[in-house]
Amino acid sequence: EEKLLSNFIQDIIDKDMEENTYGGRVHTRFPPEPNGYLHVGHAKSICLNFGIAAQNKGKTNLRFDDTNPSKEDTEYVESIMEDVRWLGFDWEDRMFYASDYFEQLYDYAVELIKNGKAYVCDLSSEEIRQYRGTLTEPGKNSPYRDRSIEENIDLFTRMRNGEFPDGSKVLRAKIDMASPNLNMRDPVLYRILRATHHRTKDKWCIYPMYDYAHPLSDYIEGITHSICTLEFEDHRPLYDWCLNELNLKSAPKQIEFARLNLNYTITSKRKLLELVKGGYVRGWDDPRMPTISGLRRRGYTPEAIRDFCSRIGVAKADSTVDIGLLEHCIREDLNKRATRVMAVLRPLKVIIDNYPDDYEEEFAAENNPEDPNAGSRMVPFSKVIYIERDDFMEDPPKKFFRLSPGNEVRLKHAYFIKCESVVKDEKTGEIIELHVSYDPATRGGNAPDGRKVKGTLHWVSAKHGINAEVRLYESLFTVPNPGEEKEGMDYKDNLNPDSLEVLTDCKLEPSLKNADSKGRYQFLRIGYFCADFRDFSNERPVFNRIVGLKDSWAK
Ligand code: ATP
Ligand code: MG
Ligand code: MG
Repeated sequence: EEKLLSNFIQDIIDKDMEENTYGGRVHTRFPPEPNGYLHVGHAKSICLNFGIAAQNKGKTNLRFDDTNPSKEDTEYVESIMEDVRWLGFDWEDRMFYASDYFEQLYDYAVELIKNGKAYVCDLSSEEIRQYRGTLTEPGKNSPYRDRSIEENIDLFTRMRNGEFPDGSKVLRAKIDMASPNLNMRDPVLYRILRATHHRTKDKWCIYPMYDYAHPLSDYIEGITHSICTLEFEDHRPLYDWCLNELNLKSAPKQIEFARLNLNYTITSKRKLLELVKGGYVRGWDDPRMPTISGLRRRGYTPEAIRDFCSRIGVAKADSTVDIGLLEHCIREDLNKRATRVMAVLRPLKVIIDNYPDDYEEEFAAENNPEDPNAGSRMVPFSKVIYIERDDFMEDPPKKFFRLSPGNEVRLKHAYFIKCESVVKDEKTGEIIELHVSYDPATRGGNAPDGRKVKGTLHWVSAKHGINAEVRLYESLFTVPNPGEEKEGMDYKDNLNPDSLEVLTDCKLEPSLKNADSKGRYQFLRIGYFCADFRDFSNERPVFNRIVGLKDSWAK
């Protein structure tokens, strides 16, 4: 059961319900621009928009905000649909495109012109900037501001008909060049741009601006609460202006909330696109990316991401969330459901000298101590096994309880072993293999004479184990605020050169031969892993580390 959202947005909805503002309706929308893949910041917005509507028996639209043809693409539309669905939300039959409304938006613009509220302006974008003034200085009226309604209608029609070159004219709202809010100083509503749109192709050569298209798209869809991020707070007067000047009743209201910022990563589509295009990562779904598709490939579950979004809550003030919380959420989820298995990532061969040569046996191993219904599986054992290189030290410090010469440890589910000798490469001195003895009386992991061992190691039988590639991921950036640590730094200067380590000689217990691309596993003592759904095959198993076992999150 996920928690009910109780926040300032719900308070606004409660008030609207009381005052019957929208006839008891709650209708939200998630409005991505299809110019990139969704990231974890968008997940917050998705959970909020779908969550708040659901708990008020309302509806949520998926709307592609596609008014900027040069950056948009159908590939992005498809990835966004997949990601929203994967997160567990359903827009049913309510998927829309802002571009569906181009004709209507055009008609509304003509109406504004007829009401004397918009005009065609010939200033260049540079001149418009100069005329706009600053926070401390009022702007100046455009010399084209007082064109007659007839002339404006004529020019706007000809803009649409393609009679003027790109950038030569714009349609502007006629508001107030002295407004303390710069967004209200006769903002641009339409521009001329010859670019092929991913849906309307070359039908249009004028495109509406976001601040104009958004409130009207919301209105057309019957949206009641238009939830967006804080940077749009200063745009709200313009949002309301568009709806008011067109006399639209029961108009939606814009509500702003703080965007999600996560440390050690970036949540900007523009920068994520740059990482993909520049080859800094292996695509949008690179498991190191904070994209939904990257998290999915990494092995995150939708439940963990939704839990994360509910824990961070919704506030009015910007803040940065520790990536440790996201990791904590996936660990908590996987601890409950991941099958425990044994995998040796950096193998060291161990020969059990007193174990019969051609003998083999099996041990029952529980699949998940957290889940009594998870059952158990059989794990084969034989004379030669692999253990983790790190689990042996020839010359150990005092508190080293793993294997060392003369020391006894437990092999998980199996026997006690004791290290008898070490074989090294004559030239390099590198340890090649260990010779150990085992105590047959300790079968199952306890000694009948009551003697104790301090260390328990995981292992894989050499004869039965399967070879695999394992990819270990670290954070993509080495600092909490990439690009903002020092003046003049670029976020790419903070990329972590060691964010990916590929181990190609790993040994896994044979049950993983049939690993399921959706399955998630706890490699005992190491971390949580999943099959890489792109690169995994039975002939060549490839696993991703989702997250290590150690939780640094302070509750
Ligand atoms: P970016 O700045 O990464 O390009 P955007 O806001 O331009 O993101 P949109 O596709 O317009 O991307 O976003 C769709 C919705 O998701 C918007 O309502 C936006 O406010 C919200 N959103 C985007 N980034 C975040 C974030 N980091 N936290 C919360 N909501 C976000
Ligand atoms: Mg946007
Ligand atoms: Mg953007």
